[in-house]
Amino acid sequence: MSGASDIASCGGSLPVQREHGQRQVFCGLAGIVWLHRKIQDAFFLVVGSRTCAHLLQSAAGVMIFAEPRFGTAILGDRDLAGLADCNEELDRVVTELLARRPDIGTLFLVASCPSEVIKLDLDNAAARLAREQQGRVRVLAYSGSGLDTTFTQGEDTCLSALVPELPEADAGGEALLVLGTLPDVVEDQFRRLFEALGIPALHFLPPRRGSELPPVGPGTRLLAAQPFVGGTAAALVDRGATLLEAPYPFGIEGTRAWLGAAAAAFGIAAARVDEVTAPAVARAERGLERYRAQLAGKRISFLPDSQLEIPLARFLQHECGMTLVEVGVPYLDRRMMGAELDWLPSDVRLTEGQDLERQLDRLRADRPDLTVCGLGLANPLEAEGLTTKWSIELVFSPVHGFDQAADLAELFVRPLNRRERLAF
Ligand code: SF4
Repeated sequence: MSGASDIASCGGSLPVQREHGQRQVFCGLAGIVWLHRKIQDAFFLVVGSRTCAHLLQSAAGVMIFAEPRFGTAILGDRDLAGLADCNEELDRVVTELLARRPDIGTLFLVASCPSEVIKLDLDNAAARLAREQQGRVRVLAYSGSGLDTTFTQGEDTCLSALVPELPEADAGGEALLVLGTLPDVVEDQFRRLFEALGIPALHFLPPRRGSELPPVGPGTRLLAAQPFVGGTAAALVDRGATLLEAPYPFGIEGTRAWLGAAAAAFGIAAARVDEVTAPAVARAERGLERYRAQLAGKRISFLPDSQLEIPLARFLQHECGMTLVEVGVPYLDRRMMGAELDWLPSDVRLTEGQDLERQLDRLRADRPDLTVCGLGLANPLEAEGLTTKWSIELVFSPVHGFDQAADLAELFVRPLNRRERLAF
């Protein structure tokens, strides 16, 4: 596949190099791994091929003691050739599943590349199945296909499907809505901080149970915890919410500014934010110290994969003293990334999209100390003597907030240490 690139300015003065060509990313089915752990009464039924089933099974692992909350309805040759009625088959599979699993409160039908190629309309199927369930189970559809997306966009399409289901907030009811999946332990830490700040009402999307959907309306202040939920944020803004401009809660600076943006939206003084966060900041400073010494001065490149690249690059440069060689993002969502872009150094090489061969050529010429990339590229690059970090690990791990700042830095120290040990 041939590639191309062009240069543009991104909002401020920072130039961004746009690339088009072959990409190397996971598909949105990967989001099921963390979404099914978060929404505990949801089931994710992928309508896809054996490849989709294998991806899901190997990424999410096998639950031995519990019934899994994800599965794949496999499209066979007859389905793909248009010889079978896929809707009939799907209805049968769903009816059997729901009869066997009364614990399911929300069923997501997840579209894949094969179901999209044969144009199986899962939105209609979800509406039909929901009617049949007569309100007992919420049935929704979203796309996890990898045809034109990167792997974290699966969460965005899933949460977007939930937005029309959210109840209308009471008139005049002011509340903070934190958007994007956070591990429960991190969510609890943030809940305590928001409560100490005096935020009047607090909700999270996704919630821990599909039956506890947060209300939304003109009094909703929206604070994104993940940079890849731009579609959901836009849908919530359409329902009256106000999106707060803030960096992401990675590292001490990002977390303090993120909490500060929420506090300011509710008229809470900056001095109160400093007072409430001081003990956690002091703990995080102590934790970061030893890793900072190991990371300072090291050169790092990000290949486009997770959409976390910009906030992580900012953290590693500002708080750990690393030098940014190239920061690649799958796509640049300026509305979600404005506050972060302001913090990047003006000489950073920022790229959007991917032309794989060109990017690898630059990487081989740069030879950074550490390369953050997708799973598929890591081993070949290691074989070329480059040290790599899997970007997907940064999505799976608890890395947000003050108490995880040191853990986040350590995730980048580990591959450097491993390489050093291998060298001796
Ligand atoms: S959705 Fe597409 S990219 Fe993802 S596993 Fe299935 S076929 Fe592969």
